[in-house]
Amino acid sequence: MDIKLPDLTIQPGWTAESQIVKCQEELDEIREAVVNHDDVNAIRETLDLIQTGHTLLKIIDNSYDGKINMTRFLLEHRNKLIRKGYMEVDA
Ligand SMILES: [Mg+2]
Repeated sequence: MDIKLPDLTIQPGWTAESQIVKCQEELDEIREAVVNHDDVNAIRETLDLIQTGHTLLKIIDNSYDGKINMTRFLLEHRNKLIRKGYMEVDA
């Protein structure tokens, strides 16, 4: 599965804190969809959640003038998942 999400234009009033509130709202929507065995909406709301997290990263990065080395964090994240045995390592 390859999911590439857009970088949104940060709107006035969007903050790290407001994105966390939004994450919780999206999580509640996912929970409702899953409880109702509504896979279509579970997918939609999960994409909303991932997008909100993506936007949170963008807001944090903006506060460092876009200078955060996300490639390094992604590598660190990947290595953590490999260490935990959650993904196969390419030969
Ligand atoms: Mg939603």
